[in-house]
This record gives sequence, C-alpha cells and structure tokens, in this order.
Amino acid sequence: MISVFGSANMDLVAYTATAPKRGETVTGRAFATIPGGKGANQAIAAARAGAEVAFIGAVGDDAFGPVMRETLASAGVDVTRLRVAPGSSGIAHIVVDDAGGNSIIVVPGANGTVTGPTDGDLEVIDRSDALLLQLELPMEAVVAAATRARVPVVLTPAPAGELPPELLAAVGLIIPNEHEAAAITGLSDPEESLKALLDLVPEAVVTLGSEGSLYGSRSGARLRVPAVPVTAVDTTAAGDTFAGALAVARAEGMPVERALRFAAAAAALSVQRKGATTSMPARPEIDAALR
Ligand code: ADP
Repeated sequence: MISVFGSANMDLVAYTATAPKRGETVTGRAFATIPGGKGANQAIAAARAGAEVAFIGAVGDDAFGPVMRETLASAGVDVTRLRVAPGSSGIAHIVVDDAGGNSIIVVPGANGTVTGPTDGDLEVIDRSDALLLQLELPMEAVVAAATRARVPVVLTPAPAGELPPELLAAVGLIIPNEHEAAAITGLSDPEESLKALLDLVPEAVVTLGSEGSLYGSRSGARLRVPAVPVTAVDTTAAGDTFAGALAVARAEGMPVERALRFAAAAAALSVQRKGATTSMPARPEIDAALR
C-alpha cells in the first residue's frame, strides 16, 4: 500500500484569445474544471498503476470538495482520511491564451489548513510500503509527516523552495525534475546536481522530461534511463505520474532499473493524452507498453 499526504486542487481553466489586462473584461472561448494538485495526482497515478492507495489531505466545504473526493474514490483511492475544512478547496485559477501563454493564481484553501498527520493518519501511513510527499501543503505539515512516519519517505520537491534540513534527513528518495534539482543544489548540470543531492538523501532520481531520468544512490549506483519516444500532447503531471508509478514499482520489489522503466512507460502514456488525472494510464496499459 502507498500513502500520499498532500494537496488536492481544482484547476479552473479559462481559454481566451488574449488574457485580460487590469480592469478589462474579455470574452473567453472555453472553460474547464480539472481535478489536480500534486498530492491527488500522485495518488491517482499510483492507484491506476496497480497499488492500494490512501490519500490524506483536505478539501473545502464548497462545491469542489465532493468532486475532488469522488475523483479520487473513483480511481480506487481510499479517501477515509480526506478531511473537509471550512471554506474553499484548493484551487488553481488558470488563464490560457491562444499564444500558449498562461497566468496562474493558486489559492491553497483547504490545503493550507493541514498542519500535520493525526495519530489516525499515522496508523495508515505506517501500514504502507511508502509515504509520498510533495510541497503543496504547509511546510510544517510536510516536515511533521516526514519525521513522524516510520516507512520510507519519497519526496517530490515541487514547487521548488527551501528544504529544511530535518525534512531532508527524513527522506529516503527524492524525485526532482532538472529545474527543481538545480534550485536545490545550485548546480545546473543534472549529473552534478544528482551527485550533490546524494549528499542530502540516500537515493535520488532527476527527471529530464523527454530526455528520461538519472538515478543515483549513495551506495554508488548510477543509471540513465531514456524516456519512451512518443508524441507529447500535454505534459501536465508527467512528473506526478512518474513518481506515483515509481513508488508502486518499488513497493512491488522491482529492481531499480525495471522500476524506472515502468515509471517512464507510465509517464510516456500520460503525456500522449490531455489533462492530469484524466491522462494517467491503468496497469494493463503500462505492462503492455513494457513488453
Ligand atoms: P515534471 O512533469 O515534474 O516537470 P519531467 O518533465 O521531467 O517532470 O517528466 C517526468 C518524466 O516523464 C520523464 O522522466 C519522462 O520519463 C516522462 N516524460 C516527460 N515528458 C515526456 C515526453 N515528451 N515524452 C516521453 N516521456 C516524457
């Protein structure tokens, strides 16, 4: 079983020829509500990749809360420990213009009310093979979960920011993309950055988009796994799909290289379809892609 302690957001996306300037009103072309948030994305990716998954987090008492809960539940994720906080759910208010530009306001809402795992949450976490964390909950909550969990902690350090030493001390595996890795280490070369990450945590995977991923461990292992060559239509949540699938593969005891290929196959399937939670592949598709 995999536990995810993280964010659930509703993306509210307005598509328009040009984005409005201050004080201006424009007529948009289309609108979509898309469930997301890195925590919910990783939970759904892991469930679709074949694991039992528990999601721990919070939604608001607004109209989006039940939608987020149902989205997770219908992917097979256990939402017993998903709380309802007074006020708005986490939302990302996104304007996409025809030039492909976007501007985004993220309102943490209910995510911002999570202070840390309760004793009941910890019981679930400690029955898991791994705890997946990201940085879209308040840092004190992430630190509390990482330091109190007794199972291996996997951190996706996104959005990039300062990482407290007590958090890093509790992480077993970190999975930044190359930009996040550079933000943490101050080194732009991914190989150098990987090396520096291994001074902080025992194992690291730096993802490189269509270039694949680099793996390293303190025990000296190094691997470069290519991405699966595909035509990408939407790379939203590629990293979350990769992290969720990798956690499942490791929980099943796959050797590292096979686990990285499994994660790359899942992510490559997801980038060929639009959306985040809507694009994540089911286990049979991943297995078929690996054959
Ligand atoms: P993030 O979404 O966090 O920025 P990346 O862009 O590095 O993360 O993507 C994570 C993984 O998803 C990559 O290591 C790769 O396996 C897969 N991936 C991402 N983009 C593509 C692509 N265009 N084609 C195939 N695989 C991709």
